[in-house]
Amino acid sequence: MRPTEIIVDLGAIRHNFNTFKNLNPASIPVPVVKSDAYGHGAIQVATALQAQGAQVLAVFRVEEAIQLRNANVTVPIWVLLGALDCEIDNAINYDLTLACWSLDNARKLNDAAKKARIVQPLHLKIDTGMGRLGFLPNQVRDAIAEINSFSSLRLCGAFTHIAKADEPCHPVTANQVEQFRIIANEFPASCNQIHLAATSAIERRLMDALPYNRPGIGIYGIAPEKESNLDLIPAMTVKSRLISLKDIPKGHTISYNCTVTLQRDSKIAVVPIGYSTGLQRAFTNKMKGIVRGKIVHNLGTVCMDMTMFDLTDVPDAVQDDEIILLGKQGNAEITAWELASAANTIPYEILCNLGQSHPRTYLN
Ligand SMILES: *Cc1c(COP(=O)(O)O)cnc(C)c1O
Repeated sequence: MRPTEIIVDLGAIRHNFNTFKNLNPASIPVPVVKSDAYGHGAIQVATALQAQGAQVLAVFRVEEAIQLRNANVTVPIWVLLGALDCEIDNAINYDLTLACWSLDNARKLNDAAKKARIVQPLHLKIDTGMGRLGFLPNQVRDAIAEINSFSSLRLCGAFTHIAKADEPCHPVTANQVEQFRIIANEFPASCNQIHLAATSAIERRLMDALPYNRPGIGIYGIAPEKESNLDLIPAMTVKSRLISLKDIPKGHTISYNCTVTLQRDSKIAVVPIGYSTGLQRAFTNKMKGIVRGKIVHNLGTVCMDMTMFDLTDVPDAVQDDEIILLGKQGNAEITAWELASAANTIPYEILCNLGQSHPRTYLN
């Protein structure tokens, strides 16, 4: 067994999925399980959600969708990036719904689908403000016409993504919603899988009359903003062990760059996880752990594969004790938002980095 492991509570994931289902019963939640389900394990999460009644799942890349198909995930899968040119011949064999954001790509998809004698379903990706992938609003009408002229493609949906959903009144957000509202009216009735909202926009009910929405981070129990009223349970716990516990005298320094000089005789623990596996160096001297139900503090620079903690105030701690680095124990909790703030980032990056770097165990 490795000393560090990720515990994923599938019961929490089911609870969070139900939260989105109940929040807006008129709109179907399409859980986003990209990046190995934000570090929680795409196969396990997708399988649990499918059993819980998820009607559709979304991934980013074709490769991720194929991994799910090979693991007996049979519900429709939306590939939000679509198939890159080099992936087209493979992608059309897996019954996927592909995003499309270029006519050149559509043409190549049509050729491949025709050769394989299938009809490939597509969602038009529309750039209303991200400045990333997608047809600009004034290109949409021509794109629909051209794609509809391809006999082996079926345009069945369209979507956009909001840049600043936490501020519904921000001029960019208001403009994105308005542009998409106009565009949504231009689609023929056969093209009815229209969607816009990720977790933050779902909470803020941006265009909540659309038939589908795409919760990602909320499915894993984390709100995309620090303040949130969503009923969510965090699914990920990160646990490691105290591999060494040593008395070190006052005046001694700890770790690289001597950022800490001990102000008292101390008991210092080494935990075998560092920045090579998701415990970011930016957490240095800002991160906490939980040992025997008590909060302890990191001391000294986070190393590549080791991090030190001050156990002086937990006199009963012994070598090989468990330490929680993310999650709950008793009344103590370390949240993904706390870790994110320590590294000046967002919980998404914390979950992806930690979750994909260690073996995972599943509960419930
Ligand atoms: C990642 C992603 C989502 C999910 O976003 P969250 O903020 O995690 O809910 C939704 N839509 C698209 C296009 C995405 O890339």
